[in-house]
Amino acid sequence: MEDNNNENPIIKDEYEIERELQKGIWRIRFSPHIEKAFLNYFLKKYIWRIRFAVSLGVFLYAAVGILDPFVAPSSKEILWTIRWAVVLPLGLSFLLLTYRIKKEWLIQVLHALLVVISGVGVVAMMMFISPEEDFFYQAGFMSIVFYTYALSQLRFPYALFTSFTTTFLYLMGDYGIVQNSTKGLLEGAFFLTLANLIGIPVSYLWEYQLRKDFLLTERLTIEKRKTEQLNKVLKDLSYVDDLTGIPNRRRFKEYLKKEWERSKRTKRPISILMVDIDFFKNYNDSFGHLAGDECLRRVAEAMSKNLRKEIDLVARCGGEEFVVILPEVDASQARKVAERIRQAVLNLNIPNPGSETSGKITVSVGVASTVPQEGMSEESLVETADKALYTAKREGRNKVVCKEIKS
Ligand code: GH3
Ligand code: MG
Ligand code: MG
Repeated sequence: MEDNNNENPIIKDEYEIERELQKGIWRIRFSPHIEKAFLNYFLKKYIWRIRFAVSLGVFLYAAVGILDPFVAPSSKEILWTIRWAVVLPLGLSFLLLTYRIKKEWLIQVLHALLVVISGVGVVAMMMFISPEEDFFYQAGFMSIVFYTYALSQLRFPYALFTSFTTTFLYLMGDYGIVQNSTKGLLEGAFFLTLANLIGIPVSYLWEYQLRKDFLLTERLTIEKRKTEQLNKVLKDLSYVDDLTGIPNRRRFKEYLKKEWERSKRTKRPISILMVDIDFFKNYNDSFGHLAGDECLRRVAEAMSKNLRKEIDLVARCGGEEFVVILPEVDASQARKVAERIRQAVLNLNIPNPGSETSGKITVSVGVASTVPQEGMSEESLVETADKALYTAKREGRNKVVCKEIKS
């Protein structure tokens, strides 16, 4: 019920908010677009307080009827009719309507009307109460003004209208209908004027604060959203190798940890490939560092193309060395993937005069596979793949060597 739309700011443009915040304390109206958003927010946040205020107000209006036999013994039935057959049902109908009506202004107008009708009710009661008991209806009018400013949740303009009308109703009733003593009239007018003078700034400041809180909440929501977006960008950036655009070592470590734990839980295999470009120093020496960089990009791309999207992960580990994580892949499948990658790089047909074997850019691949057991760490898989790669290099390069860690 206190839903403040924390995930999505209602207002998209934060400059609009700043502009409104600078308008100062003498304005309790926003520009139309923000005003609309504010009224929705207000209704959402305050509808329960409105219902509570009306329930309490109507209850008191009806309950004071217990005293009617003492102040107007001969006409208590008429007073009860006004309280219980007119105001009470109207109040309850309004409560029901608050569940149907979605327009803030309409709820405010109907609420104000309900309060004014209660005031008219008191004027009607005045006719049956003896002038000696004028404290009784004066207290009634005071309560209505007090209710309007302090409890009702009527926003300032509506509250102002309601309590001025109520005060006017009192003056009219006392002067025009009851024709009370001047003293009694002045007393009542005096108290009601004072109550209004105190109520007006209270109500105004309340609405002002309400609007300010709304703007600040919106600003916070927007800032939170922006920070989250920025954090995501930073995180994505911190995971990418800037030369090749594929994931970097940090991402590799994180993903391996995650997949290793999953394999442990599910008792499914996992494999990794260590891929190192052969005689790459010679390639750099022949064509220069820039061409070397371009070659690294092409090899990275060739590898990515030969893997399952979203499941496998190829990362650049530094220099001309790459690593591939193959979740749910056992030793024989991993060998096939490694072979495919080796072939794909060879098929790039990048000449490498410094290659002592093929005359082209090739890779050596060390493969390690296992089904992780308790007490085993993912580092052991990396070490095993490293050793396999070393063997592949020693056995002449452009080769795949597999090692399986058996439990
Ligand atoms: P081997 O077949 O035994 O792997 O021989 P290699 O020459 O590939 O290996 P070595 O470790 O001797 O040399 C790696 C070379 O990779 C050295 C360096 O010039 C090159 N290198 C590392 N990082 C980069 C890079 O970011 N860009 C370029 N262009 N070259 C790089
Ligand atoms: Mg190398
Ligand atoms: Mg190397």
